[in-house]
Amino acid sequence: MISDGSFRLDGKLALVTGASRGIGYFLSKELATRGAHVIAVARTVGGLEDLDDEIKAAGGTATLVPLDLTDMPAIDRLGGSIHERWGKLDIMVANAGFLGTISPIGHVEAKVFDKLMAINVSSVWRLIRTTDPLLKLSDAGRAIFLSSGVAHTARAYWGPYAASKAAVEVMARTWAEESRQTRLRINSVNPGATRTAMRAQAMPGEDPETLPTPAEVATKIALLCDPALDATGKLYDVRAGKLLSYNEPN
Ligand code: NDP
Repeated sequence: MISDGSFRLDGKLALVTGASRGIGYFLSKELATRGAHVIAVARTVGGLEDLDDEIKAAGGTATLVPLDLTDMPAIDRLGGSIHERWGKLDIMVANAGFLGTISPIGHVEAKVFDKLMAINVSSVWRLIRTTDPLLKLSDAGRAIFLSSGVAHTARAYWGPYAASKAAVEVMARTWAEESRQTRLRINSVNPGATRTAMRAQAMPGEDPETLPTPAEVATKIALLCDPALDATGKLYDVRAGKLLSYNEPN
């Protein structure tokens, strides 16, 4: 059952990647508004500072971490720093993403493919590895992975991005299976088309006004952080407002 939204996150520590804009920005704001201290990760310092200003104005707190997620040792160090400073982590949102080039799969440049896999897959695995022990020290650990509908289809020209999201979902499901006996709950999200820079890059001809805003989508994704949530190893379809099991047709 998905949360009714009537929960607080006071005293919780939440790490959100891709917090400088788009869905990650508004999800960070949403978690901070509910009382969590947010560790906001991205490369663009200006975007992180705008987020910090908004969080402070709403009475919340954040720690800004300017970091390029292709820097794998830096992700490992981040886990160590969180352990030293806070001794645990309650929420981890692997949201940062890179679209790459929309083109026939055989035409994608090797450097674009490698960068996409580094940001969308390898950094996510590094995050899992470094946050697993920290999340298991929480009394209600939550891990959320931003996926996409294209992980479940074969949409022409979206090959590397779709493959990266399919990989993320399988890693999330595997980790959920391995963590079933713990308090950690791990789920993926299909946010659906959302009015962000990435969507505008993917669909330049589309009228962004027809799409849900990242703030609207973030409010729904935040429901997966409810400390009372029991679901794990599932896919939350934001548009349908439903948690899907992988053995159900969807
Ligand atoms: P945006 O492009 O608006 O934001 C992407 C975020 O990822 C930015 O904060 C960016 O920060 C960060 N990021 C990208 N590369 C790196 C990097 N190398 N190191 C650190 N941070 C990085 O994307 P959206 O908000 O649209 O997407 C969020 C997630 O949702 C993604 O995983 C995306 O695949 C997924 N999604 C989005 C959909 C949509 O319609 N918008 C639909 C389906 C899935 P910075 O550049 O500052 O580093």
